[in-house]
Amino acid sequence: MKEKNVVQIDILSGFLGAGKTTLLNKLLKEAYFGERVAVLENEFGTVGVDGSFIEKESVDVTEITGGCICCSLRTTLVSGLVEICQRFHPDRVIIEPTGLADLEDIARPIGEAAAAYPMAIDRIITVVNGAKFFAQLRLSPELIKNQIRETDLVVLSRAGECDSAAVAETIGEIRGGLTVIRGEWNSVNGLAILAAADAAKKKRGASEHTQEHGHSHKHHRHGEHEHSADAFTFFSTETERVFNRDEIAEIRRRLSETEAIRAKGILPTAEGTVRVDYVDGDFTVTPLKREMPGKFVVIGKKIDEETWETLMRA
Ligand SMILES: [Zn+2]
Repeated sequence: MKEKNVVQIDILSGFLGAGKTTLLNKLLKEAYFGERVAVLENEFGTVGVDGSFIEKESVDVTEITGGCICCSLRTTLVSGLVEICQRFHPDRVIIEPTGLADLEDIARPIGEAAAAYPMAIDRIITVVNGAKFFAQLRLSPELIKNQIRETDLVVLSRAGECDSAAVAETIGEIRGGLTVIRGEWNSVNGLAILAAADAAKKKRGASEHTQEHGHSHKHHRHGEHEHSADAFTFFSTETERVFNRDEIAEIRRRLSETEAIRAKGILPTAEGTVRVDYVDGDFTVTPLKREMPGKFVVIGKKIDEETWETLMRA
């Protein structure tokens, strides 16, 4: 019998709407070659949207929905990882956690899963939305700082729409010496991103060795996660409704008037299926090449279920 190799785990972290799935697609297209890759998508809502947008067909995608793998769905992460390994025998699993996940709390269940199937964390990459960074840092300081403290590498998204030097400087204040990729994504190759993560990871390994005393990184924890309290809620649904222009405009209006932070959906319209994305004030509608079943998720601090139920009902 063939000996089982240690499955490498890459984690793509980042706050709500940072661009994790976009980076994942970029890396799948440009960088993950020559190995069998499986993807594990975790979504806070009960309806998974990101999994529909994985663009590489040879990749096995598993979705864990309806909670967060760092807290409420920690045991699901353990069993899910073991199942992915047993079913697909990947060389590498890429985990895309929710935007609210705490990286330290994902490491533990991965450790547990490793007892059942050999696996180990390889790279941790955090996407930071340059255009929304300062607003999001004010909104969720602990979450964002945690994602920066615990990563090997930061990749800025929407770098052309922000003062990337200022963003990188603040990131450096949160965690000194961290590598930040500041170029616009179409000018940075995926291979360069993975290479930067690998270089940074070696540094992490070295410094962990020399600073083994004390586990000082634990001290910033404040008991429960921000998101396992009532701070963030979501509404998610599948929908059979065919939307018209006014109704899409109404969705946009409601999003900007409420405390929604992130929304994403696949919405059928008379002119074809569209993808909608909302990140902290910015709403985009993108036509899709093929028809897909309707889905919608909205995440924020106070989400009025009834409003969204009514808007989404067929
Ligand atoms: Zn969590």
